[in-house]
Amino acid sequence: MSTEHDSLRQDIVEIGRRLWTRGFVASNDGNISVKIGADRLLCTPASVSKGFMTAEMMVITDLDGKLVSGAPGRKPSSEIQMHLVAYRERPDVGAVVHAHPPLSTGFAVAGIPLDRAVLAEVVTTLGSIPIAEYGTPSTRELAESVAPYVKAHDGLLLANHGALALGRDLFGAYYKMETIEHFAKISLVARMLGREHLLSREEVERLQALRGTYGIAAPAPICPDPSPAGAANADPSCQVIFAPSAPGERLVPDTSVASAPGPVSVGTDGEIRLTYAQLNELIDEAVRQLAATGRH
Ligand SMILES: [Zn+2]
Repeated sequence: MSTEHDSLRQDIVEIGRRLWTRGFVASNDGNISVKIGADRLLCTPASVSKGFMTAEMMVITDLDGKLVSGAPGRKPSSEIQMHLVAYRERPDVGAVVHAHPPLSTGFAVAGIPLDRAVLAEVVTTLGSIPIAEYGTPSTRELAESVAPYVKAHDGLLLANHGALALGRDLFGAYYKMETIEHFAKISLVARMLGREHLLSREEVERLQALRGTYGIAAPAPICPDPSPAGAANADPSCQVIFAPSAPGERLVPDTSVASAPGPVSVGTDGEIRLTYAQLNELIDEAVRQLAATGRH
């Protein structure tokens, strides 16, 4: 059966299949939308697994989320509100992908934004990935919580919920979702290993200049101020990236993650840093030894 916007419908089916195959969604989680006109969106319907959709299932809404057309019984996902805010705030955005990838969602649950200058390709493409404040899923509250962040970011975490990616087209948005999850995975491994070397502020500035050279359309420049990691960033004009200044250096050892679980870390200053668990173990061992000494 030939349907209107058939190739876009097929793209949504394919992206849904990839989200499900990669474990970025469980059950009927996630939603995908693409702009097909000044006041029209093609989007995934409510209550379907993203791994097993068909082209005919998709629904068309206006930019207020009102159903325009769709197969009988199909209605838009209630989380479409979040997509509408992204289209409203960013006229350059043509597609939105929302999912619950486990590693990025883990960072969103822990309240740790992905805003450290760690990977060059993330700095040049997404910049920072902040966390939008928690809002009850499917409500206006959640939609409004993402509004300040989507102005300057193509990727964001949703506190205790998931992740959101914006793109010029469907695959552009989907690939950003892949990058967010991949970045979360690498960040987690580095922190479990007990250290994380950061790109220096100067290197970040070099990468920022490359954005223009490669024609990468970032929604906003990187903020010049090296704000502390984890700082709330609802600044709509630039992206806050944690990158310490170190003139002449491209990489900067960062010891601020030494309190994360992992092996005993020795800072570049020679100082040994222990986790609470490691410190408790040492104290327990000392007490055991004292007790043993007392018995002899
Ligand atoms: Zn969700």
